[in-house]
Amino acid sequence: MKLFQKAGPRKSLIMKIILITTLLLTAITTASLLDGRTAIVDNATTTNYRLPNNSLPISYSIRLIPYIIVDNFTFDGESTIELEVLKSSSSITLHILNLTIDETATSLVSSGNKNHKIASHTYDTKKQFLILKFATHLPTGNYTLYLKYVGNLPSNILEGFYRSSYTNDNGQTVWLATTQFAPTAARRAFPCWDEPALKATFTISIKHDVNYTALSNMPVANQSAIDKTDNKLWTTFKTTPIMSTYLVAFVVSDYGYVSNGNERFRVWSRKNALRGASYALTQGESELKHLEKYTSIPFALPKMDEISIPDFFFGAMENWGLVTYRESEMLYEDGVNSTFTKQNVAKIISHEITHQWFGNLVSPSWWKYLWLKEGFATYFEFYITDQVEKNWHLMDQFIVRSLQENTLIADSSDTTHPLNQDASTPEEIKALLDTITYQKGAAVIHMMSNFLTPPIFRAGLTRYLNNNAYKAVTSDDLWSALQEVSDEYEILPPEICLKKVMDTWVEQPGFPLITVTRDYKTGKANISQERYFQSGASGDGTRWWVPISYTTQSDLNFSSTSPREWIPQAKNNIVLNGFKPTDWTIFNIKESGYYRVNYDKKNWKLITSYLDSDDYVNIHPLNRAQIIDDSGNLALANRINFSIFLDISVYIRRDIDYVPWRSMLTVSSYLYQKLANTRSFSLFKRFFVESSEKSIAAVGYIQHDNDEHLVKFQRINIITFACLYGSAECRSNATAILAAYLEDPIANPISPDLRDWVFSSGIKNANATVWNMVLDLYAKSPSLTVINYLGLSEDEEILTNYMKLATTDNSTILKEHASDAFASIYDGSGDNINFALDYLIDNFDKLYEFWDQPTDEMIRHVSAFGNLLTTREQLTKLKALVEKHSDVFGSDGQTAIANAESNVKWTDTYEPVFYEWFTNFYKL
Ligand SMILES: [Zn+2]
Repeated sequence: MKLFQKAGPRKSLIMKIILITTLLLTAITTASLLDGRTAIVDNATTTNYRLPNNSLPISYSIRLIPYIIVDNFTFDGESTIELEVLKSSSSITLHILNLTIDETATSLVSSGNKNHKIASHTYDTKKQFLILKFATHLPTGNYTLYLKYVGNLPSNILEGFYRSSYTNDNGQTVWLATTQFAPTAARRAFPCWDEPALKATFTISIKHDVNYTALSNMPVANQSAIDKTDNKLWTTFKTTPIMSTYLVAFVVSDYGYVSNGNERFRVWSRKNALRGASYALTQGESELKHLEKYTSIPFALPKMDEISIPDFFFGAMENWGLVTYRESEMLYEDGVNSTFTKQNVAKIISHEITHQWFGNLVSPSWWKYLWLKEGFATYFEFYITDQVEKNWHLMDQFIVRSLQENTLIADSSDTTHPLNQDASTPEEIKALLDTITYQKGAAVIHMMSNFLTPPIFRAGLTRYLNNNAYKAVTSDDLWSALQEVSDEYEILPPEICLKKVMDTWVEQPGFPLITVTRDYKTGKANISQERYFQSGASGDGTRWWVPISYTTQSDLNFSSTSPREWIPQAKNNIVLNGFKPTDWTIFNIKESGYYRVNYDKKNWKLITSYLDSDDYVNIHPLNRAQIIDDSGNLALANRINFSIFLDISVYIRRDIDYVPWRSMLTVSSYLYQKLANTRSFSLFKRFFVESSEKSIAAVGYIQHDNDEHLVKFQRINIITFACLYGSAECRSNATAILAAYLEDPIANPISPDLRDWVFSSGIKNANATVWNMVLDLYAKSPSLTVINYLGLSEDEEILTNYMKLATTDNSTILKEHASDAFASIYDGSGDNINFALDYLIDNFDKLYEFWDQPTDEMIRHVSAFGNLLTTREQLTKLKALVEKHSDVFGSDGQTAIANAESNVKWTDTYEPVFYEWFTNFYKL
């Protein structure tokens, strides 16, 4: 399963701007800088939510009749379940939710054809159990249970068996019925033993309209004659292999499909979107073949269907043989969608196809081991797509986009959790669908692949899959297969036990900071470990088995990621020898280990001066990225002085590579927010605008068809960054392209990749004529996207006019967008924050009167200001505002003040370092 729109844990102003071009635009709230992860719900209860397991399912035969018509969105269901009673008992317990059982129809027959009288049906709604009690004890053995039931096809709950709709070319609403069972919603469609380890076979039959197609995990076995009374027919699918309940799926729709020659692989969508399905077909087939080759195990099912669903909670779901997608995640068209959308579609398909082995063939025995499927699927999103698209540099993107931007931030918060995290209630299970399970899972897998070496890792995975096919596993099953293969090839030294090593990474929260402290006289280096907290707190005693790779200025070996040493869990530190005093050393080659690295001041200086020379290219781009990301975050955590990070940053003006630049943009974006409107702000912006000049000259402002993949991404990043930071050249280019487009969109089209840049950057310095033409676009088709562009103008007269429109009844700006229009001013530009704050103070009553739900809106904005304000002057204004309207803001006002106070405290402590550094740098 792929989550939708995993907004990273620490997204600030500029990242939102950059991400507009790279993610779909939805509201990403400005989360607290250092801790944005959703906390795991505490297991506050002692209730046991697990099934008693005195009985187990063997096979389900399920017959369903969905009614996909207005005024009757329901379904009838019948299940015939072969089960085994393992322990003699007078009851059978299984899962059920929101189904109405026809109790008179329930029957249980033992293999000897004896009918067992049902004494009662009990519904434990808290545990979502159906408990069938019998008049007598059921002896152990096999039974057939028959249940008849009715359920609803809701449209507001996007799980279980539910309905979705789209508008066809005639403007009519067309309904379809679909499923989303993971993690705990199969029980909403049929009574079942709804735990991942309780596998069984499924034979699904669905009665549907002749104009509709029914799809399920398996190919069609047979179809009945048409029932003349209702113009419907039964489609029965072949019996599945044994599988988990959460992977069962069925869809009833009037969709069309594209397919390969033998129809083994088909991609389905509503017919009026089918032109966007071809890419998913070619990419999906190719990725499936690569997975078959990588695992040396053929895909287990006879066919694969991929289908896009208009209303879908997650990004996608890996149902075995019938993968469901959110439309925007599966459809891609050249010339219409961006290169980033194309990459996302390729990646998400790899993710779901990976699950066909990791998750579907071999399943986690309980949700505690969810990362065993999601970690692999997240890792192979990059790894397998990289095999198909060799020029996309996805493994480099894995480091800078997944590991640095998300994982290391989320996992250094105080509220992180171990990968093997138990969960009991459906809410606790859902809370595990987070950055740790997905991206830390992938990071730990990446580290293992590097220290075992990729070929051995691959051989170990094939053994793991073969040993455990059609079974359910824990992490120990993975360790033992990898250990076996490692032993056969003598990869790990005998004292290194894989389980011991890996348990330190999956049973404990967080990750280590490795500190390298050199003695420049003796040539020794002390290598120590402690747990790293982004808050700056010192380690809590947690230790790991840490694979240590490194190189030096004399070696310059950035190719081998095999560990040269290990720090055992029992030790705080080890000592290494042989470092030449004039050499720098860099640890964690290509950031293959899951940790951060700090050095003594002198080694940082040696790295800095080497980087700021023509030799910088000798340091691998991933290690340049690592040095930027580690030093920036160590400074944010108060582990090193910001001057070390700034000294390193000087070199970036030489570099034009996407990889180190991506890290620089990420760190810089946090600093942008922290320094916005302080004394150092203009120098900070000047420094980075100058740093971007060589890169902009290298990529230009125009996209070419033959541009390398990462050049396209680098262009979007660097020009969005330069325009936000105030580059006059960048802004005038953007405005010129925007004006030309608005004048004549046919003659001056904008590539889908650059559309967001042109609008968000071009409008900053645009005159009223151009701004009004953008307003006209909104008038023709009102959308939040355009509202957000309009607020990015940095002309106070235009903004005042914008707010006038947004506070007038029946004006161009829809009333429902009035409050968003205000937010758009402060949300996308540090330079507009003071204007927005003053506007709110001066026009409080007018805004309060105009907005629908004004209290909620006021709290939304004051909370945002709490995160964005950085100066004492702003804080004084905020305090007066909150005090004056304490009845509106309540405790949220106080929280905003506390946040702003903490920002001001940060400014007081750290801004002088920046100011001094910049005045030195510019010799002011
Ligand atoms: Zn997944």
